[in-house]
Amino acid sequence: MKKSIYDISLLPSLPPLSPDEKRLLSTSVDVDQLYSLSDEVRQCTSCVITNQRPRIIIGPDGVCNPCRYWEKKSSSIDWNEREALFKELCHTHRSNDGSFDVLVPSSGGKDSSYVAYVLKEKYNMNPLTVTWAPALPTEIGFQNFHSHIQHGLNNIMATADGLIHRRLCRSSTIIMGDPFQPFVYGQVNIPLRIAKAYDIGLIVDGENGEVEYGGDDSTEDLTGFTRTESEIYWQSGMEVSDWLDYGFTPQELNFYKPPREAVQVQRVFFSFYHNWRPHDHFYYVSEKAGFHSNPERSECTYSRYASLDDAIDPFHYFFALLKFGIGRATSDAAHEIREKIIDREEGIALVDKYDRTAPSAQSTQIFLKYTSLTPSELIAICKRWTNSRIWSNNPPPKINF
Ligand SMILES: [Zn+2]
Repeated sequence: MKKSIYDISLLPSLPPLSPDEKRLLSTSVDVDQLYSLSDEVRQCTSCVITNQRPRIIIGPDGVCNPCRYWEKKSSSIDWNEREALFKELCHTHRSNDGSFDVLVPSSGGKDSSYVAYVLKEKYNMNPLTVTWAPALPTEIGFQNFHSHIQHGLNNIMATADGLIHRRLCRSSTIIMGDPFQPFVYGQVNIPLRIAKAYDIGLIVDGENGEVEYGGDDSTEDLTGFTRTESEIYWQSGMEVSDWLDYGFTPQELNFYKPPREAVQVQRVFFSFYHNWRPHDHFYYVSEKAGFHSNPERSECTYSRYASLDDAIDPFHYFFALLKFGIGRATSDAAHEIREKIIDREEGIALVDKYDRTAPSAQSTQIFLKYTSLTPSELIAICKRWTNSRIWSNNPPPKINF
């Protein structure tokens, strides 16, 4: 299976780094202070997550906030009552003239495809899916994206100007320690624009990641995020317009911005109304929507069915490893333990085996080509974002070139 369906040798070179960006390469970030991390590492006694992931809190009983929420999901949330609310919501928005009545932000991945199909099949809605294109589509992600359309869904894909998107990815890697920030802007804002253009009054996002996977559990009772919450939790406090300070023009940032005027739309999480179980979604879309898992495990983890669509994503996870000491295998194992797919012992073994590893040499070459960074610039950016406390005894894994 090819990493990217696009021949990366065709990518034009980007302009060199700005003097400000060059200067940042030799400065370190105080990651602990930036993310308010505790210097005492505590691991949840129920899963494998630690309090080094931002906003994870290990309680006096040794259990993390998402594990507590998952326990609550199976014990005290009345899902029938929640589903009744969802049916009411659908009833309010259902069209009777054939027009689209619900918008589902979707990559063609297992979770978003599941939401779109269930809305269509079970709730008798007329969904439009909208996809903010990955930076560099993978072969498996592209197949799944087309499968979700070929099995009965309408879709609009929005793709940003490659020269701008690549520069934004590179700048956000340097400035925020994450190449995925520009992807987040599109994911959050393009659905608002499309909803406005097609006069759709309801957007159904998949899950509230803050409570499902770990974060601020004060958001537990929110049916969806307002603009303020989306800035805090989805956009890491960095608005699109903030990039004007880093050499981007209003014209270059236009596609990433929310609509100029407020949109009359209700935006909710499917997971507020339904017991969110990603493994069940995988079975559902495999059967009904031609979804395929990757024949090989994803890099730096053991799983084969999550987050498959972008060839630059190994570096999104790698920067999280440098900052928090938590890699992709920890995140995957933590929620599979909560979902009772694996037990904690298996989770610990999988984390030991896969978590503290660097992306493959092939993925590094793709990332370098995509960002027009040199190997020494990439090494400097990794050093800038390496948490010196977490990696004081063992150096982080070396980048494979
Ligand atoms: Zn836990």
